[in-house]
Amino acid sequence: MERGNVLVLGCGIGGLAAASILADRLKGKANITVIDIKRYFQFSPSYPWLMIGKRTQDQVQRDLKVLERKGIKVVSEEITSIDPVKKTVTTTSSEYTGDFMIISLGTKYNPDAIPGFSEYAHHIYDLESAISFRDAVAGFDHGSIAIGISRLPFKCPAAPYEVAFLLDDYFSRKGVRKNIQINFYTPEPNPVPSVGPEIAGNVLKLLESRGINYHPQMKLKEIKKNDLIFENGETMNYDLLFSVPPHAAPEPLVKAGMTDSSGWIPVNVKNLETGFPGVFAIGDVVSIPTPKGYVPYLPKAGVFAHGQAKVVANNIASSISGSGKMREWDGDGACFLETGHGKSAFMKGKFLAEPRPYIDFREPSSIWHMQKVAFEKYWMRHWF
Ligand SMILES: Cc1cc2nc3c(=O)[nH]c(=O)nc-3n(C[C@H](O)[C@H](O)[C@H](O)COP(=O)(O)OP(=O)(O)OC[C@H]3O[C@@H](n4cnc5c(N)ncnc54)[C@H](O)[C@@H]3O)c2cc1C
Repeated sequence: MERGNVLVLGCGIGGLAAASILADRLKGKANITVIDIKRYFQFSPSYPWLMIGKRTQDQVQRDLKVLERKGIKVVSEEITSIDPVKKTVTTTSSEYTGDFMIISLGTKYNPDAIPGFSEYAHHIYDLESAISFRDAVAGFDHGSIAIGISRLPFKCPAAPYEVAFLLDDYFSRKGVRKNIQINFYTPEPNPVPSVGPEIAGNVLKLLESRGINYHPQMKLKEIKKNDLIFENGETMNYDLLFSVPPHAAPEPLVKAGMTDSSGWIPVNVKNLETGFPGVFAIGDVVSIPTPKGYVPYLPKAGVFAHGQAKVVANNIASSISGSGKMREWDGDGACFLETGHGKSAFMKGKFLAEPRPYIDFREPSSIWHMQKVAFEKYWMRHWF
């Protein structure tokens, strides 16, 4: 039997699942501490709905203090540094040491990497920004909207496409779609390239059918008032701008020397252990190469953070309790693509399969939309 102090850094999708599974499995046999700068768990897959007024702030967040009922210690502090050798974490007000550490700190955003981003671009990559974009959308009724991706990698490859489809639907229902041009720009060669060219073709057809103009291989260089400037010299006019912000690993991980040339934490793909024994990293902070895949690294998505959390929590619980089998992560994942009009498409795949990833695409239907609503309900209720 191992010792049982587990530190979970970050209580978003990966950290919440890992801490909850550990608490359930170990009931009193271990001290589980989660540390998150935010007091609330906020469910970003619901932000596209919030953006068009279909969800309120209260519907997409939960108070993390509720986890204390399960015996989880919840610390609402900012992590400023990490010592992965000693498994020690320093926050703005204290220091914590564990026998195991699970890092699930997600991504930070680097808007300053693109001149003009902070001044002119909206996004929905955090709750405050999603609320601000919702207000801008509500006041918009004519002109051109540019929607796009500024830099790779970014989390949830489907999210910006959901933004485009849901805005098309929203403005159609308002009766003003005919007055609005929607342009989609991305540095990628085709939509959602991680799922392969065939599915990209399906998404492209959907964009065309909705009158959304698609501009691939356009890497954003600078944003000016009403104009986007791309690295290839082209420009695009906009009245309302949505752009996925540039992503980066949180600073304490970079300072700790835990990231590699990819900018993210390398891990053993089977058990998510980092180069430091007993220190695991899951979710958006990790880079998992996919040599047989359509893109060099696995995309960042909550479904992977959740699957990895299950494996890491299981293995730590088995080590501490001395019972139960060790498990390996399989690289399987699924995701919805909200297409508006009460419908959603669905993609499900084996992303690390040999000789090629196998990914299935289901056409938009109300059934998949209802499944996405059920997925949201699961996350807002199951753990709290
Ligand atoms: C608009 C949108 C829609 C999405 N839709 C989907 C979807 O439909 N399906 C899907 O699978 N994925 C989706 N995703 C992606 C998904 O949300 C992420 O991949 C997932 O949240 C990653 O989980 P994580 O635990 O790695 O990080 P996060 O969930 O981001 O959690 C990281 C936590 O760490 C905390 N933290 C960071 N730095 C510090 C610090 N220094 N000190 C203390 N705490 C810190 C943060 O406050 C946060 O709570 C979507 C994302 C967005 C933005």
